[in-house]
Amino acid sequence: MKPMHGAYLFKALKDKGCIIMACNTRICVGIMKGLFRAAKEADAAFIIELAKSECNADGGYTGLTPKTLSEHACKTASEVEFEVWGLHADHTAVKKGSEEELEEVKKLLTSCIDTGYSSFAIDASHLFNFEGNGVEEELADNIRSTIVCGEHIKQKYNEKHGNSEFGFEVEVGEIGRKGNEGMILTSPEEADGYIKALNNAEVYPQVLAIANGSTHGNIYDDNGKLIEQINIDIEQTKSVAQALRNMNSEVRIAQHGITGTPLNIIKKEFPHGDIIKGNVGTFWQNLFWNVVKEKNPEFFNKVHKWVIDTYSEKAKEKGAKSDDEIWGKFGKFATKQFFDEIYALDSETVKKIEDKTYEEALKFFDAFKANGSAQIVRDYIKKINDED
Ligand SMILES: [Zn+2]
Repeated sequence: MKPMHGAYLFKALKDKGCIIMACNTRICVGIMKGLFRAAKEADAAFIIELAKSECNADGGYTGLTPKTLSEHACKTASEVEFEVWGLHADHTAVKKGSEEELEEVKKLLTSCIDTGYSSFAIDASHLFNFEGNGVEEELADNIRSTIVCGEHIKQKYNEKHGNSEFGFEVEVGEIGRKGNEGMILTSPEEADGYIKALNNAEVYPQVLAIANGSTHGNIYDDNGKLIEQINIDIEQTKSVAQALRNMNSEVRIAQHGITGTPLNIIKKEFPHGDIIKGNVGTFWQNLFWNVVKEKNPEFFNKVHKWVIDTYSEKAKEKGAKSDDEIWGKFGKFATKQFFDEIYALDSETVKKIEDKTYEEALKFFDAFKANGSAQIVRDYIKKINDED
């Protein structure tokens, strides 16, 4: 069962007070099915995604290509019979903005479109001119690169589907970047200037990823102990969303780096509706290995040892203080290394992973106030079809 055009999800659910969960399924085993089952149970629209670093023509660090990820997701959607989902290219990074790099990125985007992706994120947030005078100058390379990629997607998507209803996320402010005085946050002025410049070039994203205090992945204290993710600056996030509304923009915010955020904070304090997309990635990887540790300790110990042996030195250079921290930050690189064994795990372990994923995903859908959101999307599509 194929994914829906991403724009349908974002347009239908704009200002409906819910957040669409986007899951990075670095490991598909058990997790993919658990997510689809939960989405069906909650009748919640959701998104499957992987970043360029995680998944590309060479397999990224997960061993998955756009084609294999798409196959896993489409097959599971059919098995579970759930249709309100999108397939998204998360963090399609542009780090230099050179002609050569942009060509390579376009090639990856084309392969994503060819294999059925329905939504795309261009992340050129690294391109920032610190000497620039004003927002437009500071963001000039980001804007230029995002426009080039946006136009490419529009053309290729149109060729394949006969419409431009793809989901489109863009990024201003590098997530997790630290300056001398802590996290560097995206300002409302930056968001406003950035979206205006894109719109002037007839590039219309629905979602904007901003730096608002979160960090990707597991986070640790100075002693190497795992801690909760509570650094998201909710007031700043609301101000950016307000700036977007003030300019009559349809764009709302994508929250990255949710792993580790307590569910009650998400449910009670997150500005649902200002935030329309919430990415949860590392959480599922943690869940996977926690189950494997319990059900198949021999395999877990082998993988754990490989990660510690391979990354200790590098991790310590970067300030890691404990084996837990090395595992939590570098464990993701074991996915490709042990790909065949992961995808050949015994059915009992896989079932346990699936059931645990189902259970946890339901809690996220509840915290995201996403229960029933799939029906809003169905109604929206029916309405636009009736109008045609
Ligand atoms: Zn992210």
